[in-house]
Amino acid sequence: MDDVWDLVVVGGGPAGAAAALRARQLRPEARVLLLDRADFPRDKACGDGIAAHGRDELALLGVPDLIADYRPTRRLAVVSPGGARVSATSARPNHVVPRRVFDARLVDAARARGVEVRRHQVRALAVLGDRVVLDGTVTARAVVAADGANSTVRRLIGVSPSPERHTAIAVRGYADVPAGDDVQSIFMQRDGWPAYAWSFPIGDGTANVGYGMLLPRLHATGLPGKEVLHGRLAELLPHVSARDLRAHHLPLSPGRPGPGSGRVMLAGDAASLINPLTGEGIFYALVSGRLAGEAAVQAADDPLPAYRRGLEKALGRHLRTTDVLALASQSPGFIDAAIDTAARRKEVFDLLVDVGLGAGTVPVPLALAVVRRWFLNTVRRR
Ligand SMILES: Cc1cc2nc3c(=O)[nH]c(=O)nc-3n(C[C@H](O)[C@H](O)[C@H](O)COP(=O)(O)OP(=O)(O)OC[C@H]3O[C@@H](n4cnc5c(N)ncnc54)[C@H](O)[C@@H]3O)c2cc1C
Repeated sequence: MDDVWDLVVVGGGPAGAAAALRARQLRPEARVLLLDRADFPRDKACGDGIAAHGRDELALLGVPDLIADYRPTRRLAVVSPGGARVSATSARPNHVVPRRVFDARLVDAARARGVEVRRHQVRALAVLGDRVVLDGTVTARAVVAADGANSTVRRLIGVSPSPERHTAIAVRGYADVPAGDDVQSIFMQRDGWPAYAWSFPIGDGTANVGYGMLLPRLHATGLPGKEVLHGRLAELLPHVSARDLRAHHLPLSPGRPGPGSGRVMLAGDAASLINPLTGEGIFYALVSGRLAGEAAVQAADDPLPAYRRGLEKALGRHLRTTDVLALASQSPGFIDAAIDTAARRKEVFDLLVDVGLGAGTVPVPLALAVVRRWFLNTVRRR
C-alpha cells in the first residue's frame, strides 16, 4: 500500500486537472495523485468550445496562456426553434480547442506542478475512519471524483446520478470548413425541442460540429440513437460532411445531486454541472474542480462542507437561475422571444452569453423584456 496522499483526484478531465492544479498551487508541499483510466492525450466527445469565462478559470489556476495559440473568436450566430436570428459579437472572445489537446495540456501542467499522474481505473472504494482507500491500494485524506458523466466513484459512495429527464445526449464530429470561417453557429430545432446543432470553427480549416437533445426526447422517437443523432446532424448542417462522430451523455445541472459524501467531493460532470440551456460544462468543471482542490488542502479535516460553501458562493444563484430558465425554455416560444430580444438589445445578447456560458444571473428588467416579447409574439401569432 502507498503512503497516505493528501488528495487523490479520480479523472484527468478539466475538473480533475483543475482540482490537482489548485491543491498544489495553494499548498506546494501537498501530496497529490491524479488517476485516469486513459493515457493522455485522449479524445473526449465534446463541442470543444471554451468560453472567455473558462479562460478566467485558467488564469486563476495559474495557466493563463494554456490555449493562447488558438484563434480567439467573438462572433456568435443563433437561430431559434421558431426561426428568430441573432448574429453578434460577444463582449469577450471564445476559443475552440480539441479536447485531445486541451485536456493533455492541463494534465501536463498538473504534472509540471508536482502532481503525480498515473494510469489507473478506479473500481472500488472503502472508507476507513478518516481515510478513503481506492482499490485497496491507494489511501487518501480526501478524494475528488472528477470521473465524468458516468462516474464510478459517485456510484461507489451511493450518490444517485441525474435522472433521465435532466440528461441530454449529443454527438460531435469534425468537418472541413473555409479557413476564414470564424462564426460559432447554433441552429435550434423545434422538432424534439430542446435540441440543437452547432458548428464551432477551430481556426485551422476544420470545425467541431454536432447535435444534441434531451435523452427522453430521443427515446420517444423509438428509433436507434445513432440513426436519430446522425440523421438530425445531417439535416441541420446539410453542407458539412462530419467524420470521427462520437456521442456521450450530458448530465444537466437541474438534476444535480449533493456534491459528495464524507471525504469524497464530486466535481464537473460527476456532479452534473452542465448548463441546461447550452450544454456547456467545461467552465463549471474548472470552477468546481478548483473549489474541490481548495477545500481538500484548506479544510483538510472536513473538506466537504467547505466545498459546499464554495460552490454555493460561486454558482448558487446561477444554478437556481438556470433551473428556472430550463423550465421556461421547455416552451420553444420562450427561446424565440429571448433570441428575438437579444437581436434587438445588445445587453440581452451579452446576458444570454453570461448565463449560457458562465455564472451569469438575470436582472429583473431584462427578464421582463423577454417575457414581454414572448407575450407579444404569442398575441401576434393568434
Ligand atoms: C457532444 C458533447 C458536446 C459538448 N460540447 C461542449 C462545449 O462545446 N463546451 C463545453 O464547455 N462543454 C461541452 N460539453 C460538456 C463537456 O464535455 C463536459 O462538461 C466536460 O468534459 C466535463 O469535464 P469533467 O472533467 O467533469 O469530465 P470528463 O471530461 O468526462 O473527464 C472525466 C475523466 O475521468 C476518467 N475516468 C472515468 N472513469 C474513471 C475511473 N473509473 N477511473 C479513473 N478515471 C476515470 C476519464 O478517462 C476522463 O478522462 C459537451 C459534451 C458533449 C457530450
